Amino acid sequence: MTTPFLPFALPEIGEEEIAEVVNALRSGWVTTGPKAKQFEADFASFLGGGVEAIAVNSATAGLHLGLEALGVGPGDEVITTTHTFTATAEIIRYLGADPVFVDVDANTLCIDVNAVEGAISPRTKAIIPVHFAGRAADMGPLLAIAQRHGLKVMEDAAHALPTTSGGKLVGTLESEVTVFSFYANKTITTGEGGMLVTRNAEIARRARVMRLHGINRDAFDRFTAKVPSWYYEVVAPGFKYNMTDIAASMGIHQLKRAYAFQKKREQLAALYDEAFAGLPIVCPPKAANGDVHSWHLYVIQLDGSVSLGRDQFIERMFEQGIGCSVHYIPLHLHPYWRDNFHLTPEMFPVSQKIYERTVSLPLFTRMTANDVARVVAAVKVALR
Ligand SMILES: *Cc1c(COP(=O)(O)O)cnc(C)c1O
Repeated sequence: MTTPFLPFALPEIGEEEIAEVVNALRSGWVTTGPKAKQFEADFASFLGGGVEAIAVNSATAGLHLGLEALGVGPGDEVITTTHTFTATAEIIRYLGADPVFVDVDANTLCIDVNAVEGAISPRTKAIIPVHFAGRAADMGPLLAIAQRHGLKVMEDAAHALPTTSGGKLVGTLESEVTVFSFYANKTITTGEGGMLVTRNAEIARRARVMRLHGINRDAFDRFTAKVPSWYYEVVAPGFKYNMTDIAASMGIHQLKRAYAFQKKREQLAALYDEAFAGLPIVCPPKAANGDVHSWHLYVIQLDGSVSLGRDQFIERMFEQGIGCSVHYIPLHLHPYWRDNFHLTPEMFPVSQKIYERTVSLPLFTRMTANDVARVVAAVKVALR
């Protein structure tokens, strides 16, 4: 008898999502239209705090639009963490600016706020923290540094729905822009998709224009009453980053389940925590007191006392039918970033050490307590 393979992640798509997608398909309106508009309105009211939400076809697109709207360009520097997905940094290069990478804090696995201060130069324009695994970065001190130095902050919240920092939902903090991801394995999904959120009307206006070819919708709306609807004005060489109504149809219903999903993930994470007590495993950092952790990922580290290598551990898990992953291969190890920005592991001792010992275990809402028990049993065998 063989047990089925337990994947590292799986989306949970319900009948409501399916019915809404079918409704969009039958309506004849498949690209950006009423569903995308509704998803944006729902998302803004989900977060509250008077934010505007702009739906895009990926978080990468949203991060690009956000940084563009902040006025970042050639010659500028943007500080971010090495311990992230390449999308966080590649959008800095899209704009011809240079990323300046800093290490992470071992207690949060998020950007080391003290290191940020030391990385600021006269060219620094912005900071992009990442809420790693769904645990908020240390936003209070980071926002204070940004304010002291006149820098903009854009949060990479790809993992962070719903996450709170200081009791406030990520997306409603005092940063300029926050971007969420709805990629297939994220906490809610539209297949591919993202949401740019801001309270700054000027940034919102610019992002809306640049999201769709640099077409000025204000001009369009202003004149639609007077001239035929074919009229529009292009005011910049924009991008093609709009979200389709097919994707938004999923998003509308995924968003309604965001808190239920978070609760489920939190319960699964607690089961892991409990089971790993006493094992040579470093459990993931908890949220700060009273804050919500979205638990996008459950990231362990093999303790220094374990002689088994990380790669071997993952292999042994795979042999037992368990899918694992690694978050992340830090950017300083990837050829493009390493060679062009002269990065070495010695510059990022915390990230490097974590990378060598880190494993992300399966964590998704359709997992059962039994699945967790299977993973735990496999971990024990692998460590033996
Ligand atoms: C997934 C992810 C992104 C990119 O999201 P997409 O929607 O796939 O573009 C960016 N940053 C981080 C940290 C991510 O995990």
